[in-house]
Amino acid sequence: MAKYTPMIEQYLRIKADYTDAFLFFRLGDFYEMFFEDALKASQELEITLTSRDGGGTERIPMCGVPHHSAQNYIQQLIEKGFKVAICEQTENPKQAKGVVKREVVQLITPGTVMDGKVLDEKDNNFIASVTDFEDGTFGVIYSDLTTGESKVTLLQGDWIDVIGELYGLSAREVILRDDIEQHVEKLIKERIPVTISHEERVNTPEGLENLVEGLEQNKLRKTSGRLFNYLLRTQKRSLGHLQPVEYYQINQYMKLDLHSKRNLELVETIRTKGKKGSLLWLLDKTITAMGGRMLRQWIERPLLKEQSINERLSIVSTLLEQFFEREGLRERLKEVYDLERLAGRVAFGNVNARDLIQLKKSLEQIPDILELVSKLDHSYTTKLVSEIDPCSELREMLDEGIHEHPPLSVKEGGIIKDGFHEALDRYRDASRNGKEWIAALEKKEREQTGIRSLKIGYNKIFGYFIEVTKANLHLLDDDRYERKQTLSNAERYITPELKEKESLILEAEEKSVELEYEIFLELREQVKQFIPSLQALAKFVSEMDVLQCFATISDEYGYVRPEFSKERKVEIHSGRHPVVEKVMHDNEYVANGCLLEQGREILLITGPNMSGKSTYMRQVALTAILAQIGCFVPAEKAVLPIFDQVFTRIGAADDLVAGQSTFMVEMLEAKNALTKATQDSLILLDEIGRGTSTYDGMALAQAIIEYIHNEIGAKTLFSTHYHELTELEQMLSHLQNVHVRAVEENGRVVFLHKVQEGAADRSYGIHVAELAELPAPLIERAKMILADLESQNQQVNSEEVSTIDTMEPSEDKQLSFFVAENKVKEKELKSSKQENNVVEALLQLDLLEMTPIDAMNELYKLQKKLKNN
Ligand code: ADP
Repeated sequence: MAKYTPMIEQYLRIKADYTDAFLFFRLGDFYEMFFEDALKASQELEITLTSRDGGGTERIPMCGVPHHSAQNYIQQLIEKGFKVAICEQTENPKQAKGVVKREVVQLITPGTVMDGKVLDEKDNNFIASVTDFEDGTFGVIYSDLTTGESKVTLLQGDWIDVIGELYGLSAREVILRDDIEQHVEKLIKERIPVTISHEERVNTPEGLENLVEGLEQNKLRKTSGRLFNYLLRTQKRSLGHLQPVEYYQINQYMKLDLHSKRNLELVETIRTKGKKGSLLWLLDKTITAMGGRMLRQWIERPLLKEQSINERLSIVSTLLEQFFEREGLRERLKEVYDLERLAGRVAFGNVNARDLIQLKKSLEQIPDILELVSKLDHSYTTKLVSEIDPCSELREMLDEGIHEHPPLSVKEGGIIKDGFHEALDRYRDASRNGKEWIAALEKKEREQTGIRSLKIGYNKIFGYFIEVTKANLHLLDDDRYERKQTLSNAERYITPELKEKESLILEAEEKSVELEYEIFLELREQVKQFIPSLQALAKFVSEMDVLQCFATISDEYGYVRPEFSKERKVEIHSGRHPVVEKVMHDNEYVANGCLLEQGREILLITGPNMSGKSTYMRQVALTAILAQIGCFVPAEKAVLPIFDQVFTRIGAADDLVAGQSTFMVEMLEAKNALTKATQDSLILLDEIGRGTSTYDGMALAQAIIEYIHNEIGAKTLFSTHYHELTELEQMLSHLQNVHVRAVEENGRVVFLHKVQEGAADRSYGIHVAELAELPAPLIERAKMILADLESQNQQVNSEEVSTIDTMEPSEDKQLSFFVAENKVKEKELKSSKQENNVVEALLQLDLLEMTPIDAMNELYKLQKKLKNN
């Protein structure tokens, strides 16, 4: 077999360590990819596939991108969830003996990307790691490399719970042990779009001990260790900006599982998966990018401690009242850049002078912000202010050191201010003096030659020159002038005098540019020392930003401060769905109250399709969530318990997992709620059971309600179109019927969206179909079929006496289809009970109130029933 060339051998050696990444192999001014990588990259990036001779039997597929525009291509691959290993030449090719040395200097992955358009400024870019311990505990850590924050927790449960946690974080990448089972990877990939990577080592890497010092449990340190080892291995650089890992307890926060977060559209909508239309979208009146990220984290993690919730609420209240301070704060925040990510980039060593100017400008706002916040005169904010280091020293240093409008490049000078560095000033003087000297020379030359248009210019190739137009050439008779360049209408010359000065000037300039770069690097190092203070400052600013955002929202949308009840009571007056209300035209939204208290834990909601049942249910859940994140709520008054968990099964089968039917998903979610809910939870179940046949579904629905009623006692909103279930009110003392009203006007249904006590009386399926403008003949036909079925149904009904436990079909027209189909079967089922029913009916007759003819008729009917048996 033919041998590959030494360079391809080198490529293959390096590639063997990075099998799951694209290897960008630096070759002169290009990053080249070979073999499989080339085939795949040429497709993903739509770049030309070529080939080269690499010494083997066949030509090697190859494609490449210029190194100066590589960033763009790398981003495209990362966005698609791939990883890219950057392999650089690590020695000067001119000095190389044999093949130039090359090494991977960084592995860029979806969870470790530090800049570019992949990063939405208001989104965190979380990389997570999960360690499953033998005792069934899971350690979960997540970290944002751009901001340096990391949080770790332990959770009991199963992989589904872990996935719920990862979904909540929108983690881009998750690190697992090397030998993780295939089915676990599959489970994760099916549910969330995340890149999976592996790391085996869990010991805390050297130099990072301080990050895990505060963690008491070994499991937490191991969990963190896995992530840090991965980061070090892939980033191959200082991780100096990582903040100590913060431990949090899952049960510090309201538990919202994957489905609830999706169903309630907290941070993205079900349909578009975009932010627009979500609760986050509605609430996001944060001004800084950091505030935007914190808001998202708060929404994902509503609080459980009443004291902490009230702390937030009372600051919101203060900000709401102190309009001027709030406006002032908003104005100042507009000038604050992303301190957190700037700090991250300082640590990574990729800030430029413009970033440092942004940092300075942000710091300039801090004194004002601190003063405004102090004026709020609130104990919590006063404490925050007292703990803040405004980094004035850093601000002064940047102010003295860096030009207001520095260039993008850090290597071409023009960054450092005069007077900041002595040696630099000297070089600059030399070059400036030189320039003055040149101006003087120009004057002298003009006088000597009498050419008024003579000028001295400079370009990079020829350096300084004297330029004389062709018309004036005859005036230049001195042999001092040496011709350098000919233009169409002028000649350029130099003189020995000019040449000497030129080299002095250029040398001074070159030295000053070099020195500037050094000074800049030094400055950047000094900024590093402020990273922890900057991070603390960023936290403070973010928090104030989110709180002002809550106040602004509450003010603008007319929200009220919720109160918390110790008696597990929900009492909402004129509540609204925050998002639906906002996307509707003026004041169309119909406000609805909600009352749930002891003895009234379950509301069974009936009403036609499209009447607003699920909107109502979501409204209640969102109100609870808003309250627990410390925001005011859309209502006239709201008294709420603190919910430990919210479970939902609402709306369309949006999240069909491969291989599972809608009904299975529905049942899994129901199971999740039923096994985990407590009496402090809120459960929303929408049309449970509709995914299976009618009796089946109804039976399940009833059993689920009974289970919640008898075993759990959670606050529950249960919507259904099985009208039979409304009879449960008589059996279950804690259940109350409510319905969303609709009325019929001129044969059409009008939705009033008003929730009222009691059960709904009719279903309006055909009218809804009419509203949806199904073809008129079809609607007519449906009406005929319905009338027919109803008359058959009534015949069946009229022959029977209704009881709850026979699940007697009521007037419900949707059900009547089914009843007709199953008429015979149903009759059989019921015939056995007929005798009892007749006896029961006989006993019920009030003979004293009946005329003889009535009694005769009744007797005849009863006898007929027994005969029909
Ligand atoms: P259901 O769950 O009963 O089928 P939805 O809750 O999906 O009905 O509501 C259907 C539509 O009715 C919603 O898209 C919304 O536009 C409108 N709607 C719901 N509730 C209200 C309300 N309280 N006020 C005004 N419009 C509402």
